[in-house]
Amino acid sequence: MKKFLTGVVAVLVIVLVLMGVTAGFKLFRIDIKLNGEESVVAEYGEVYEDQGAKVEKVAILFPFVRKEYPYETVNGVDVNNLGTYEYTYLAEFNGKKYEKSRKVEVKDNAPPVITLVSDPDFYTLPGHEYIEEGFSAFDKYDGDVTESIERIDDGERVTYRVSDSFGNQAEAVREIVYDDRKGPEISFDDWVYIQQGTAFTNKYYAEDDLDGDVTDRVEVYGDVDTNTAGEYKIRYVVSDSYNNVTVAERTVKVCAYDPDKVIYMTFDDGPSRNTDRLLDLLKKYNIKATFFVTDVFDAYEYCIKREYEEGHTVAVHSYTHNYARIYQSPEAYWNDFNLMNDVIEAQTGHRSTLFRFPGGSSNTVSFNYCDGIMSTLAAQSRQKGLTYFDWNVESGDAGRTTDPWEVAQNLIDGVQWHSRSVCLSHDSLDYTVDGIERFFQWALENGYTFLPLDENSPTAHHGIAN
Ligand code: ZN
Repeated sequence: MKKFLTGVVAVLVIVLVLMGVTAGFKLFRIDIKLNGEESVVAEYGEVYEDQGAKVEKVAILFPFVRKEYPYETVNGVDVNNLGTYEYTYLAEFNGKKYEKSRKVEVKDNAPPVITLVSDPDFYTLPGHEYIEEGFSAFDKYDGDVTESIERIDDGERVTYRVSDSFGNQAEAVREIVYDDRKGPEISFDDWVYIQQGTAFTNKYYAEDDLDGDVTDRVEVYGDVDTNTAGEYKIRYVVSDSYNNVTVAERTVKVCAYDPDKVIYMTFDDGPSRNTDRLLDLLKKYNIKATFFVTDVFDAYEYCIKREYEEGHTVAVHSYTHNYARIYQSPEAYWNDFNLMNDVIEAQTGHRSTLFRFPGGSSNTVSFNYCDGIMSTLAAQSRQKGLTYFDWNVESGDAGRTTDPWEVAQNLIDGVQWHSRSVCLSHDSLDYTVDGIERFFQWALENGYTFLPLDENSPTAHHGIAN
């Protein structure tokens, strides 16, 4: 029996050895098993990541004996070109090659991506149309497809739709936010200084982006007593229909009248194309001036009326401002004078008793035409009850400079020498009107008072030379 068993074992060993010899290397094989489907779709333009595979060495007779085995992969997938490709797993064992491939179809399945520009603080005023903040669409395959976007604004929301060349559709929706978060804007003249005794007009304006003109809803707190020098604060409060409240404040300084700081601003040779602009400035600063008028630019005669109505003094300069004509004889002078006063009367309803000689009473140009005429005219003017004015401060605009800044500077320098300055300047000259605002501001900030001339004002007479 023992001998028999030994014999069986021996036979088995021999059989096994023979099987091993005849099977050669086929005791083991390599098993490749793909994870997931054997055929998949990959997205165009996206990185393709294969799901992997399980590669094992398996004992043929005893398949439960298996062990992970090293492998290589060949990625044949070109995601940048539509088509069908293979992703392959390779292993080699004892000179034999094993492989398994997955079929990968690269397709464009993704819709374009729509991007909306959207500011979280953006809103649309009720009753207004939504103003597009911006949008774009990009498709991996087609590229920029922004131009193909269909945009539908139904008043509540905006829908954006676009599809790519494979029919993949994208849609984005924007809810329109209706609101009003901005209060009205209050505007007023922010000039601070006004002269004591002049009229202060509290002019203001309020405009709302939704409600429009809301000036009549403005509540004003504070007042200005123009007769009492001092600093006054005015507050303006206004709200719109969405309860956005705007508060604005301004300061007005009423400057004390100082008898040693009086300026009589005079403008000769106009009215001209610059006069309306000058009158606007005078109004802005509450300044009354004196105009020695001519009829040289007769298209602007109407300005004489405006000068008069806005409280300025209108006085005679010359109808023609032609030295050769007016200084030929006293008769010629008064004839020209009266023609000018006719124009003044037509515009204002009054004749003026105030005047200024062209060239001033000290002019020497009149020597060329008539000896002693200035002395005669000065005497005659007194008999006629007329008052003529010269000046004691020059702006320098009649020859010294054509620079607006210098015109202002000459006046600034000049008025500091006099407690009562009669300033010569010309509203016929562009650069004078260009520069005069600077002088007005300087003078008001420094406590000067502007007054119009009347028959009791300083005449600033020059010595008569002829
Ligand atoms: Zn003149």
